[in-house]
Amino acid sequence: MLTTGKAILDVANEHSFAVPAFNISDWAMFRGIVDISEEKNAPLIVGIHPDEVRHIGREMITGIVERAHNASVPIAIHWDHGATYEQMLQAIQYGFTSVMIDGSLKPFDENLAISKKVTDSAHALGLSVEAELGTIGANDSYAEAGAAEIIYTDPDDAVTFVEATGVDSLAVAIGTFHGFYPAHLLPELKLDLLKEIKSRVRIPLVLHGGSNNPDDEISEAARIGINKINISTDIKVAYHNKMREVLGNDPKVREPNAIQPACVEAMKVVAAHKIDLFGATGKGALY
Ligand SMILES: [Zn+2]
Repeated sequence: MLTTGKAILDVANEHSFAVPAFNISDWAMFRGIVDISEEKNAPLIVGIHPDEVRHIGREMITGIVERAHNASVPIAIHWDHGATYEQMLQAIQYGFTSVMIDGSLKPFDENLAISKKVTDSAHALGLSVEAELGTIGANDSYAEAGAAEIIYTDPDDAVTFVEATGVDSLAVAIGTFHGFYPAHLLPELKLDLLKEIKSRVRIPLVLHGGSNNPDDEISEAARIGINKINISTDIKVAYHNKMREVLGNDPKVREPNAIQPACVEAMKVVAAHKIDLFGATGKGALY
């Protein structure tokens, strides 16, 4: 069933697991992600970035909403990395049930002001809001906006920010990069920092990036306070690596229904692993 980000994440917060937010901009991949979530009986957040919205168009969002209504697991449709108030209005009009307002590259006061403005309006219309404090690293030309270096989330700032804005969830910078990591960088999550932030703000926390962080760190983070983990790079790499293999150099290979199923299966293996790792398997039963 279609639901809000808050409805999904509050249960995850109460039961100490994380819901995967898979970034989607392709119909075959979207169907595969819903199928694996239903097979695993796991709640799902479909993340769609503004660039992806432009790529798929409004009509596909309508189809995503319809599929979510018919799903056996709870699904939220989430506008990933919204940059402006106007984008949130667009998300509402398109049928999203959750929005992110990312003011993390702005000064603290400006981030707080725009996040509060978006939250006040979104709440009036029944949508949930995720904001971001601190900056997640970015070193990949395909990755979303971010800083070249991570600026870790300050726990005192997090308390002030959450109280003043009323956001439903908060993306924190605790040691992840968007996209692939720089070769010299050894990723490491600051789990003590996560524990401190969580003990003070209580709301669901969100992890962006993390493709190259070790599995045991990620699963521990999901256990101690992260309730939503964005997954983009990992499923897209699995899908397209398989597509290269299927296409080979044979020009006769051309039908989408002959090419895509194997790619979807390869992607589903990665998605299933993430769902298990986050502790989300079987958690559809809690809703
Ligand atoms: Zn992100």
